[in-house]
Amino acid sequence: MKIEKMDIVVVGAPWRELTIVELTTDSGISGLGEVRMVNKTDTLIAAVQELGARYVIGMNPADMTKLAWNIQVAEYGLPGEVGQSALAAFDMACWDIMGKSLNVPVWKLLGGKFRNRIPAYANGWYQGDRDPEVIKHLAKAVVDKGYRALKIDPFGSASAEITRSERMRALAILESVREAVGPDVQIFLEMHGRFTGAAAMAVARDVADVEPSWLEEPVIPTDVTSLRQLRQSTHLPIASGERMHSAHELRPFLEEGLVDIYQIDLTHAGGITGLQQLIGWTNAYNTLLAPHNVCGPIGTAAALHFSVACPNFKILEHFNDFADPWVFDIVEGAPRVDSADGCFAVPTGPGLGVTLNREECEKHPRTGGRLALFKDGWEKRVAVETYTQPED
Ligand SMILES: [Mg+2]
Repeated sequence: MKIEKMDIVVVGAPWRELTIVELTTDSGISGLGEVRMVNKTDTLIAAVQELGARYVIGMNPADMTKLAWNIQVAEYGLPGEVGQSALAAFDMACWDIMGKSLNVPVWKLLGGKFRNRIPAYANGWYQGDRDPEVIKHLAKAVVDKGYRALKIDPFGSASAEITRSERMRALAILESVREAVGPDVQIFLEMHGRFTGAAAMAVARDVADVEPSWLEEPVIPTDVTSLRQLRQSTHLPIASGERMHSAHELRPFLEEGLVDIYQIDLTHAGGITGLQQLIGWTNAYNTLLAPHNVCGPIGTAAALHFSVACPNFKILEHFNDFADPWVFDIVEGAPRVDSADGCFAVPTGPGLGVTLNREECEKHPRTGGRLALFKDGWEKRVAVETYTQPED
């Protein structure tokens, strides 16, 4: 079996673009990959076209490890975020093809079923003003949908430092979320790498009574020194990893024990093959994997198959119940969170279990949608042109 054709489809929402890659083999079996590239869709498409022509057309879809070596090593230039994302799209599609060709769901090829239910947490749900009363009602709607975990960045456009009054506003928002969801729902506190070590320490102290289940990217993710300072000052678990793209980038954090939960994004870290390689290493350091996921249904399906089989999995991120719910319709067989327990079921169809609906995709052309996390209004998940500059 050889791959002989590659198609790229991009679907646009106001704040994100979803790049879908379909690979078709000479046996007629096709597979799907999907990436939400952060703000650089054109760059990703160029990388997919260039690397796809060089390494993917003509390859046997079973040879995914060699494909990864070609893109990560034979290219000589380091793959980085864009290269690892292009690889992820190819890799995901290859696993889909292999699952279909063997008539099994992908998780059966990843070590089999480790769990029957796959817990999810909600993101994209706080599309309102930064007002505790507004956020409280939105948080209640999340648990009403069955979710037992949710994530929020209440810090507006804060950058490096945060004023005392803004810290107190963020705390009031967080307390309103706790009040809405009760003591047993997990709240994850997103910081988007905003803060200096000192500012992150002040925030961690403020929020201790709310007991967030993790502090996410409290400082710029490559800043080992500041993370070390924060680590020594708080008992709260630390999550990071959505901007780590290869095993090498985890190394200092693992070896120093600075991160409890690694949020590697399958679509920015070489795909299913890339994440599979991290299971053993993160497990050896007694840490958990909670895959970052801002994808539509195809990337979500890939992360879901991985999560079924991963022993040190914690929870999977999910936007699509609260942001652009039409993305469910761009495929047949979109994974859904069960309102009974806030979990995904184990997928049963061959491959990734989803089929592209091109007619639905055509209804949502490219938007240029992107995020600008240091301008006011990004939480509303609307077009970036409507954000406002924070006051100086
Ligand atoms: Mg994050």
